[in-house]
Amino acid sequence: MAINLLDFDSASLTRFCMDIGEKPYRAKQLLRWIHQLGISDFSEMSDLAKAFREKLAALSIIRSPEVINDHIAADGTRKWLLSTGAGNAVEMVFIPEANRGTLCISSQVGCALACSFCSTGKQGFNRNLTVAEIIGQLWWANKMLKTEKAHETSFIPENSINGRIHHQEKNIGRAISNVVLMGMGEPLANFENVVTALGLMLDDNTYGLSRRKVTVSTSGLVPAMDRLRERCPVALAVSLHAPNDALRDQLVPINKKYPIKMLLAACERYLQAAPRDFVTFEYVMLDGVNDSTEHAYELVRLVKKIPCKLNLIPFNSFAESGYKRSSPEAIRIFRDVLLQAGLVTTVRKTRGDDIDAACGQLAGQVLDKTRRVNRNITKIAG
Ligand code: SAH
Ligand code: SF4
Repeated sequence: MAINLLDFDSASLTRFCMDIGEKPYRAKQLLRWIHQLGISDFSEMSDLAKAFREKLAALSIIRSPEVINDHIAADGTRKWLLSTGAGNAVEMVFIPEANRGTLCISSQVGCALACSFCSTGKQGFNRNLTVAEIIGQLWWANKMLKTEKAHETSFIPENSINGRIHHQEKNIGRAISNVVLMGMGEPLANFENVVTALGLMLDDNTYGLSRRKVTVSTSGLVPAMDRLRERCPVALAVSLHAPNDALRDQLVPINKKYPIKMLLAACERYLQAAPRDFVTFEYVMLDGVNDSTEHAYELVRLVKKIPCKLNLIPFNSFAESGYKRSSPEAIRIFRDVLLQAGLVTTVRKTRGDDIDAACGQLAGQVLDKTRRVNRNITKIAG
């Protein structure tokens, strides 16, 4: 099978070049062609020797998961369904805002962690995504959105050679300013592939994103959080969702293995590696489950010593979820308790829910390979 060059970070691409008799610095050139320019046809890589290009074409390919569906929501949020073969598919979402563009990518086909309110979790788990499939999401979206932006600028009349064109051209390379691993899957349960893909996102020869513009969201795999801190301390979001173990055990079953005290201690260790940073605690608002004023006060007591931000996520429903979204009033009261306690708190805007692109609605197509979940939890990434 041909080697997919999207699987390689800088170090492994350098090794690959040397293995086929090329100078190591060729890897840098290749990375730029592939990731910055989005080129997948070796014959277009004009500053590489013809013999090298031919060798590359004989041995390797540059291929991201195939897009099988493309939806745009009324608010501009865009969702793509990507085939990962064998009847499986994952989803990726782009959220354009005035001052930034966020790409939400998937890390696994399904998820074995079975959080009770999550559509991905309800579908079970099939497999981890490869590095090429993870970085391939950014590679493809970046290329596609840049092409679309460039196309938009071509409609500007020629006589408007002014600041406006200049501004738009500058934006061509900036369609995606932030990446969040908040799509399908638990990123830290696919640790090595995710860390390699993160390294590529930060590499100056590829996307050059700053550490703070890339966020990993985890349900709380404590040992893997420690390893992430050592290997690639990007921004961290933790799916807390409950202020005590009894409730969190029900909502986020991995809590039985890594209870809240252990989880918060891991957050504090994480911040020691990046003292100017903060952890974002995600808290899904479930009507009558975790949204009372008492829960809010309990949450304040729990997190007040940790440099953090709270992100309240109105529950996004899906068929047979068994939960309801908290009322706007309940969310407001809950938020005000946190704000009054001095915690930076935001309520996540629900984007793209007319196309089921909101948090936790991503379903893709998952052929479950696990025989339902609880028994998996003990096996997952220790
Ligand atoms: N597995 C990781 C990242 C993917 S889920 C994690 O759990 O953190 C991204 C976020 O969406 C998490 O905070 C998750 O708890 C939340 N989420 C899942 N289902 C949801 C739903 N139905 N409505 C709102 N948020 C949901
Ligand atoms: Fe998996 Fe995250 Fe969904 Fe939980 S919320 S089932 S960890 S994707």
